[in-house]
Amino acid sequence: MDKAKRKAIIAGNWKMNKTPKEAKELLTAIAPLVADADCEVIACVPYVDLAVALEATAGTNVKIGAENCHWAESGAFTGEISTGMLKEIGVEYVVLGHSERRQYFGETDETVNKRTKAALAAGLKPIVCVGELLWERECNITEEVIARQIKLDLWDVTEEELKNVVIAYEPVWAIGTGKTATSDQAEEVCAFIRAQLAKLYNQDAADAVTIQYGGSMNDGNADELLSKTNVDGGLIGGASLVAEKFAAIVKAASK
Ligand code: PEP
Repeated sequence: MDKAKRKAIIAGNWKMNKTPKEAKELLTAIAPLVADADCEVIACVPYVDLAVALEATAGTNVKIGAENCHWAESGAFTGEISTGMLKEIGVEYVVLGHSERRQYFGETDETVNKRTKAALAAGLKPIVCVGELLWERECNITEEVIARQIKLDLWDVTEEELKNVVIAYEPVWAIGTGKTATSDQAEEVCAFIRAQLAKLYNQDAADAVTIQYGGSMNDGNADELLSKTNVDGGLIGGASLVAEKFAAIVKAASK
């Protein structure tokens, strides 16, 4: 499939930044700057910001996502948020398996898979993050790591459900470090992810999946990264917290 036919998506991942008041200010600044975007624009925000974020973006083209969700419908899971809670207030996307969740909060491919299945069942669109550690890249096992993550994280996800899945390739060594993968490195792994999807599903299904790159993407390097055939968008951390920088990345994806 022609890249132009795939949905380009630029999603901000705010991580643990911005109070509700600050969230409202930032989204009020972002919305007019991206109003004519020719790509999907999403802000994934902390749980307590969700309500205000939905309110601030109502009637705009900015969609709102959460940064995680649990797989159970309800129950004794202190500190967790269910898919039903997110769905009821109007959240559309959810980031799952982010490397910070894997690294600091014991997230595994098994729990990423459970969360992915639950999100899809609830009608949320998961942005499933995969990526290798620096050590794994140096040991030349990037493809092995990515193949395993894709297979396990999407275990039991049907071809129909895959239509609502976004994959974010985020080399862990490039997140928040200022070290960006070169556009060739990003393309190589995003193409590999698509090939894995084709193996697990089929070529048509794989061709329709939006694959983002994430890892220090900013207004200076977005053009080059997004020019690559298999890089369909970006998951943006730091640069999504500055309206003008985020809008410049959205503009690059709209070309
Ligand atoms: C991220 O948090 O997903 C990310 C890519 O962060 P940054 O853009 O800051 O590297």
